[in-house]
This record gives sequence, structure tokens and C-alpha cells, in this order.
Amino acid sequence: MIYLKTDDEIELLRQSNLLVGKTLAEVAKYIKPGVTTKQLDIIAEEFIRDHGAIPTFKGFPNPYGEPYPASLCTSVNEQVVHGVPNDRPLEEGDIVSIDCGTNLNGYCGDSAYTFCVGEVDEAIKALLRTTKEALYKGIAQAVHGKRVGDIGAAVETHCVAQGYDVVREFVGHGIGREMHEEPQIPNYGKKGTGVMLKTGMCIAIEPMITLGKRKLVMHADKWTVSTADRLPAAHFEHTVAVRQGKADILSSFEFIEAVLAEKAI
Ligand code: MG
Ligand code: MG
Repeated sequence: MIYLKTDDEIELLRQSNLLVGKTLAEVAKYIKPGVTTKQLDIIAEEFIRDHGAIPTFKGFPNPYGEPYPASLCTSVNEQVVHGVPNDRPLEEGDIVSIDCGTNLNGYCGDSAYTFCVGEVDEAIKALLRTTKEALYKGIAQAVHGKRVGDIGAAVETHCVAQGYDVVREFVGHGIGREMHEEPQIPNYGKKGTGVMLKTGMCIAIEPMITLGKRKLVMHADKWTVSTADRLPAAHFEHTVAVRQGKADILSSFEFIEAVLAEKAI
């Protein structure tokens, strides 16, 4: 069942998603060598609750029915998604993909951004750049009358052209009152195939792209997923509303990138 949202519901989704963007920006202020992902998680949870929202990831069950223990997913270097915050200090040259979800007034926000910790290798920065570009290529296809496969094809084509691989086991999704609704939004696919996109559909598009091969391994914690070859992966995610002619991006990287620009001075 795909729920089409009214304009009022889309505004509520925007508010929740803007809070996610602001939470990631708050977290971004503290990302540097020496900080732990657990410390970042505490900052995020406080910020979300101070703004009258609930961190949707906390308590979310894995396929074994075990509740997720944190408010953020913090996936470092070869970790692709669902990295559980821990006490290992981040180091110069690491990257950390931070995924955040909120429930504000009954509507879900979901967005992710991959950050550099201090100075990072140029090859890894290029992976981050390409993944973010691929996200926007996918978003450009999220318009009324196109199909889900158009999004996946746009993401995949852009990344494969640069020599990267595209994760298939984890995909984007519909979003609304539930964090994960139908349809699934893969980051690969064939143009002109799959579910037709309609005005009012709200979806999270979230390319997970690997520097090496896309083969994955699951950690013993039954959450954290890494690349089998231990080469780094990047993850960027926006929640968008499908519209006629142009997608409406409900989440925002603006707050994050203002913090990053400030830190670069
Ligand atoms: Mg997410
Ligand atoms: Mg998502």
C-alpha cells in the first residue's frame, strides 16, 4: 500500500525532516579526531528531544526482534550502514556516515550525510562527492510520471561510471507516519521500470556506494554492516516529495554545510 500525502502532511514531514538536518548540523560541530560516536549519539538524542521529537531509530527492531540501542547510526570507514555508536574515538582521516531519524508530531524525518574527520584522502573525498552527486541525480528523477527504476538507474549509472559499486541489500523507501513505507527505492535499476511515481508520494532516496566491491558482511552485533573488502563506503540520504516537474526536497543539508564551512575557516 502506497500512501499519497496531502500538502498539509507534506508540510509536517518537512518540519520533521528539517529537524533531522538541524540535528546532523549540531552533531557536525563536534566531529573531530578524539570524539566518540557514542558522544555524538548523546548530542543528537538531546537535541531531538529538546525540539519535541522522538528519535525513531531508538528501539527500532532488527530482523531478530532486537531493539536498536541508539538514536543515530554512525558507520565509520568500511562500515556501510547501521553502525552502532561506540566508545572508539574517531581518528584523523576517518569518514563517518551519520544517519538520523525523527518523529515530530507523528511524522518521520530521515536523512544521512557522510562526514570527513580532519583531513581525508583525496580518493575517499571523491567517493563522497560522487555519492552526493548521485543522490541529486536520483532526486531529479523523483517526479510525477517517472518510475522507481528511473531513480535507481540514475544513481547507478553515475556511480558505476566513476568505477564505484552500488550496495543492493539496503534501499530507500517510502516515508510518512512510518519510517519505512512502500515502495522500496533501490539505488540500481532499469529506466522506465517499477512503480510509477505520483504527486504526493514521499520517499527517502539513499545511495550507499562503495570504493571497492559491493559485497557486504554483517557484524556480530546484528546491526553494523561493512564491506567485505574493508574498503570505505559513503551514504547520503534525503527525504523528498514527488511533484509535477520537480521533486520537493523535505530534508536539508544546508544547516550541515553551514557548520562545515564555518569549521573550514
Ligand atoms: Mg536514514
Ligand atoms: Mg532511510
